[in-house]
Amino acid sequence: MEETLFTKIINREIPADIVYEDDLCLAFKDINPQAPLHILVIPKKHIAKISDAEKDDQDLLGYLLLKAGMIAKDQGYGEAFRLVINNGENAGQTVFHLHIHILAGRNLTWPPG
Ligand code: 5GP
Repeated sequence: MEETLFTKIINREIPADIVYEDDLCLAFKDINPQAPLHILVIPKKHIAKISDAEKDDQDLLGYLLLKAGMIAKDQGYGEAFRLVINNGENAGQTVFHLHIHILAGRNLTWPPG
């Protein structure tokens, strides 16, 4: 598996505030939160970005979305939250290990920046 910053978090090589883990995914607080709740949900499988996902990843991608919704609810923000996936450098992606941002706890404007 390709090593990324997030692989190191999965492997406990660097610390993170982990809020959920199972065989397929890990969720932890973002180090630079953009909202009162800012959690990243990542697959344990290394997929660099959503546009690299393949047909075989279909179940995993659905699973991550379901988990993101459940985690938002568990954190007390089940009714108002935003999920964001940045895909590629020009879209703001900085860590090339697929992750879903969960943002909640403030008014989230539209369009996003
Ligand atoms: P991206 O910009 O790729 O969509 O999101 C990457 C996110 O990872 C950013 O929101 C950034 O704050 C977060 N991040 C970067 N390095 C670390 C780290 O070492 N620990 C944690 N918890 N989050 C990180």
